[in-house]
Amino acid sequence: MFRNFIGGAWLEGPGVARNINPSDTRDLVGEYAQADADQARQAIAAAEVAFPAWSLSTPQQRFDILDAVGAEVLARRAELGDLLAREEGKTLPEAIGEVVRAGNIFKYFAGEALRPGGEAMPSVRPGVGVEITREPLGVVGIITPWNFPIAIPAWKIAPALAYGNCVVFKPAELVPGSAWALAEILSRSGLPQGVFNLVMGRGQEVGATLLEDPRVAAITFTGSVATGQKVAAACVARMAKFQLEMGGKNPMIVLDDADLDVAVNCAVNSGFFSTGQRCTASSRLIVTDGIHDRFMLAMVERMKSLTVDDARKPGTDIGPVVDQTQLERDRAYVDLAQAEGGRLVLGGEAIAHSVDGQPGFYMSPALITDSTPGMRINREEVFGPVVSVQRARDYEHALALANDTPFGLASGIATTSLKYATHFKRHAQAGMVMVNLPTAGVDYHVPFGGRKGSSWGAREQGRHAAEFYTTLKTSYTHA
Ligand code: NAD
Repeated sequence: MFRNFIGGAWLEGPGVARNINPSDTRDLVGEYAQADADQARQAIAAAEVAFPAWSLSTPQQRFDILDAVGAEVLARRAELGDLLAREEGKTLPEAIGEVVRAGNIFKYFAGEALRPGGEAMPSVRPGVGVEITREPLGVVGIITPWNFPIAIPAWKIAPALAYGNCVVFKPAELVPGSAWALAEILSRSGLPQGVFNLVMGRGQEVGATLLEDPRVAAITFTGSVATGQKVAAACVARMAKFQLEMGGKNPMIVLDDADLDVAVNCAVNSGFFSTGQRCTASSRLIVTDGIHDRFMLAMVERMKSLTVDDARKPGTDIGPVVDQTQLERDRAYVDLAQAEGGRLVLGGEAIAHSVDGQPGFYMSPALITDSTPGMRINREEVFGPVVSVQRARDYEHALALANDTPFGLASGIATTSLKYATHFKRHAQAGMVMVNLPTAGVDYHVPFGGRKGSSWGAREQGRHAAEFYTTLKTSYTHA
């Protein structure tokens, strides 16, 4: 049994959750203690007690701890990647890549702990000096989704600690394994008792407790729009700071002048890899008339070559969907798209077994053409291997279609024209823009986040993370 980590102690909870491998539902990944609201409050209390001393810890102390955590994560990439692939279903190379990213994030924020954070400037009044400094917030509640079980926790926990905050971390119910493994590393890192706490449990209970408790100064949340709205309402009601990273319906434009191989690679990578379960997935392809038919032929050829199989088997391109509920949801969207007038060109079937006969939640990647902007397949996030295609007359039409969405996370274009690439970077309504690259690949040291219905508040990652995890103080001194 894997336990919660509260106030420096490993504690059982009132419940137990079983974690199942989506590539083989007979495989029990582990049994994880489930905290309740009381234990969540216990973790908050421990973090609150630890905060005054931790907020005064030296940058060198924080550097040493975060750097060592990053080093251990990197050194154990194969083992942690295997666990991640086993519990979430992304392929082994993708899972190891995610673990490496998590390790690098800890090392990056180790460095950020040393960065001078303030400014000094003259006052408009004689003899007065002004200093602007950044201070930690206090207890930060961290609530994460299941699709990046170690990278998203890392990009929230590392900056929270680097800037001197204490943490209560509630991972997604479906992926406690990676969260627990990261917590275990943090528990041996030299952090004082109570600075970092892990509470596994249900969102409506443990997550909601973090939202409502006045001792939690700030909430950083990644997940669905529906839950994000609850986070926002609860935080506004008690004036707590919050940050939301939510869904996407990311477009990828393919222009007549695109390099066909580049366009297909971008579309397949962003649409289907990680089983389409990425907030930055290109789930909407917008293809101009002159290349449309050639692109579709190449796309279908490429899709036929993809292997859907056990996430940990060498050669697998696409692992399973995370669970039965998500599989049914993905399938329902394929049916809905057809009912709305779209044409299913390929895929979209639930597959009950891996190539070797293991029971799992597999699905063949689905491509739907003849779709129009108003169809739900083009407006709602599916979060599975389902991609729709819209035709566009020209670049201007394609850009208008790309921006016609309530979301604004990532937006991509495949083109060899500098003119269109430059125009697109300026006019795409998204927080992240990719030219001749998959929308789903991002660096770990630069801002991550979107606009419109995708995000709220300060950006994550990179040095801009300081805007969320610290608060400014302006001091005036008359010498
Ligand atoms: P979800 O909203 O169902 O759950 C996210 C987290 O919120 C979980 O830990 C859950 O337990 C918790 N939660 C649920 N109800 C809660 C409540 N009432 N109070 C407090 N916490 C609660 O999302 P999910 O299904 O785990 O993740 C998929 C979603 O995440 C997709 O929409 C995807 O686009 C989004 N996502 C966004 C980004 C990004 O950075 N923009 C990255 C990854 C995933």
